[in-house]
Amino acid sequence: MIVMKFGGSSVESASAIERVAGIVRGALVRKPVVVVSAMGTTTQQLLTMGEEAASGEKDRALERLQALREMHEREIGALLPASSQGDLRQILDGHFGEMADLLGQLSAAGEFAPEFVDALSSYGERLSSRAIALVFSHLGMNPAHVDARCVVLTDGRHKAATPLYSETYARARDKILPLIGQSRVPVLGGFIGATQKGVTTTLGRGGSDFSAAIIGAGIAADEIQIWTDVDGMMTCDPKLVPEARRVKTISFAEAAELAYFGAKVLHPSTLLPAMEKNIPVVVLNSRRPDVAGTRIVAGAVPCSNVIKAISCKRGIYIVNIRSTRMLMAHGFLQRIFEIFSRAETAVDMLASSEVSVSLTIDNPARLAEICEALRDFSEVSIEEGQAIVCIVGDNLRHTPGVAARAFGALQGINIRMISQGASLLNIGVVVAARDAERAVKLLHQEFFRDVDPAVFD
Ligand code: ADP
Ligand code: ASP
Ligand code: MG
Repeated sequence: MIVMKFGGSSVESASAIERVAGIVRGALVRKPVVVVSAMGTTTQQLLTMGEEAASGEKDRALERLQALREMHEREIGALLPASSQGDLRQILDGHFGEMADLLGQLSAAGEFAPEFVDALSSYGERLSSRAIALVFSHLGMNPAHVDARCVVLTDGRHKAATPLYSETYARARDKILPLIGQSRVPVLGGFIGATQKGVTTTLGRGGSDFSAAIIGAGIAADEIQIWTDVDGMMTCDPKLVPEARRVKTISFAEAAELAYFGAKVLHPSTLLPAMEKNIPVVVLNSRRPDVAGTRIVAGAVPCSNVIKAISCKRGIYIVNIRSTRMLMAHGFLQRIFEIFSRAETAVDMLASSEVSVSLTIDNPARLAEICEALRDFSEVSIEEGQAIVCIVGDNLRHTPGVAARAFGALQGINIRMISQGASLLNIGVVVAARDAERAVKLLHQEFFRDVDPAVFD
């Protein structure tokens, strides 16, 4: 059994879905379970129309909804015979009718509350999974649509729900394994789940990768495949550096670090379930299925390059906290962390001196409340528009002089914070977001002038 997850651009059009059908057909002997994202930019469209409806622009939202319907009708319709067009219309009528109702409610409420964000954005995957199952059916691939909300159970934290693992794994086994036993191809939408009470939730943007891993872990799949629009995990984002090289094999620990620090190709939580059940994850290009992609595996991957890849995460805020009153007082950090914890805001990087602490966050939703609490005992300043750039690789732990090389390469770029040591396989710097691209390019030149052909392509 394998899980095959296809991202938004891999299912964005009739021709993309045709390619996906070909890839899945070629893997039928491996008993695939298919997890799909919403088509193209659907999720973003849904979020935008929700904002529009809630802010008094309902007509604009409805126009956007209509355009989204036309896109689905055109692209999916092109893959179906006349006899199946009625089935497609029925699916579209039902889903788009409900979305129009939701937009009406948002317009009346005047706000786009988190539970509505999840309710509305869930339709992208609900639609794509139904539509793709219909196409597979027409192609004689014997699919079975499974509503992911009946499998992926989560807590009620909207927009970034956490799966309830044991319950979800039990459901994955109960709902999916019998279908595979009947030689059917289960098709599920990624990204979405539901609470135990049946309220729709989502796993956060980019969460379909995570869905695939959860489902793969639940059914004890042999492999979890993430099909996307690049050749695999690359030495850095190929959008920043077109010469980025494909990493053929990388360890879970290295890939998880890269995903956490901004390599968008994998949702940051994807590797947790896979690591726990020791299921290899393979990242592949749906446009170039013959390329071997990147294999993410449990053990260390010997490599003559000191690092495997560079990641970059923008949208970072530095919070500077200074308190002379707390000078040498124990419990200072504890007090600070309690405030961030109460505000459910994760801290990514930390640096401290005698009377001050700087830390970074990527989610400013509750920053005002955090600052207010910190100001009870300290002076606080915020720096927006920052980025974390990380170099990642197992060899960092035993190669001297890497930091010197990295800082040498970054000469001329103002480095705001530095972190090394926490994981032993990552050196991270915070720079202004406007410097991030240049920093990545300089580091890439420095560390990937020559590459180990056994690890990089
Ligand atoms: P999907 O829709 O398939 O989930 P995403 O857009 O979420 O695809 O992720 C793929 C994108 O991740 C690539 O197009 C690339 O720009 C970006 N990316 C960032 N860092 C890396 C990296 N190290 N290797 C590969 N892709 C990366
Ligand atoms: N469709 C969702 C998003 O765009 C989830 C995903 O594609 O992974 O964020
Ligand atoms: Mg993605």
